[in-house]
Amino acid sequence: MSLTSSPNAAGPCRVYVAGHLGMVGSALVRKLEMFREHSIITRSRQELDLTRQSEVESFFADEHIDRVYLAAAKVGGIKANMEMPADFIRENLQIQTHVIHAAFSAGVERLLFLGSSCIYPRLAQQPMLEDALMSGPLEPSNEAYAVAKIAGIKMCESYRHQYGCDFRSVMPTNLYGPNDNFDLDSGHVLPALLRKFYTAVATGSETVTVWGSGRPRREFLHVDDMAAASVHTMNLTTAQYWSVATPRCSHINVGTGTDVSIAQLAGLISGISGFSGQIQFDPDMPDGTPRKLLDISRLRALGWEAELSLEEGLAQTYAWMVQHEINTWADETA
Ligand code: GDP
Repeated sequence: MSLTSSPNAAGPCRVYVAGHLGMVGSALVRKLEMFREHSIITRSRQELDLTRQSEVESFFADEHIDRVYLAAAKVGGIKANMEMPADFIRENLQIQTHVIHAAFSAGVERLLFLGSSCIYPRLAQQPMLEDALMSGPLEPSNEAYAVAKIAGIKMCESYRHQYGCDFRSVMPTNLYGPNDNFDLDSGHVLPALLRKFYTAVATGSETVTVWGSGRPRREFLHVDDMAAASVHTMNLTTAQYWSVATPRCSHINVGTGTDVSIAQLAGLISGISGFSGQIQFDPDMPDGTPRKLLDISRLRALGWEAELSLEEGLAQTYAWMVQHEINTWADETA
């Protein structure tokens, strides 16, 4: 799909990836580097603190950005979300409010806001359609984060409605892949289980503990597929994007269309790791939302589908973790 021409004369399209050191942002940069007509702009947190409005405004005023991928966010697993709701709502609201408004003020041509499937009501009908948004109460364990993400979607819609901005939103299901957070306290279930099974095999432990009942169901998408879906959505023409998105329900779900139970996920990872002990469930830990499966017909109608199977993605991410992560937790496996 061709890109529209850059407002920067005949120069390359200047694309800012906010959050390029995170799992999603780094996958986006890998994907965008395949397009020679892009000039990719990034800033570390030390160089540009997105929670500081004046810094963000100066950056946009100086850099003449054409397109923004807004992948900067404070993210975490169920435990971190329950323990630090104030941090999750404040940081996310600040980052997205500053970036979206500064992008508008600087005349950015297009922006893509990345959200999360936790925006939908806890008991939404499965698979979840985009217009299930705000049709019921949220899951309490990540309500603060979800409210911030809903505000991001509504900001993009409001700036389109009032000012005609082409600000779009994608809502990914649970993501995983290289550069994930493998911390057992603050990370999500998939990287935590990769680490727990690796450690059990390395230390000869007989048991691996999985939080909750093992019954909740989640849909997992490899971050390279998420990056591909994001670039695909950004590159749709204005008419294409807004033909499926309405001004009052503009976001697009990104997933695989299939889910697994946490117990099934543990079984798959156990097989990859070569673990031969017992899997135990800890009922004292929370289950969270019973099921999160996205309806992906909107994105499918726009010509995109995920490529990587969960089995392939898990094996690849396990290998990445062994190569890049385990030396940072040597004490566990010594
Ligand atoms: P959620 O999708 O927002 O609920 O976030 P998580 O990815 O953190 O958790 C998903 C599900 O996996 C929940 O039911 C957790 O209780 C369960 N789970 C099982 N073992 C673990 C673990 O070691 N870490 C995490 N984060 N979740 C786990």
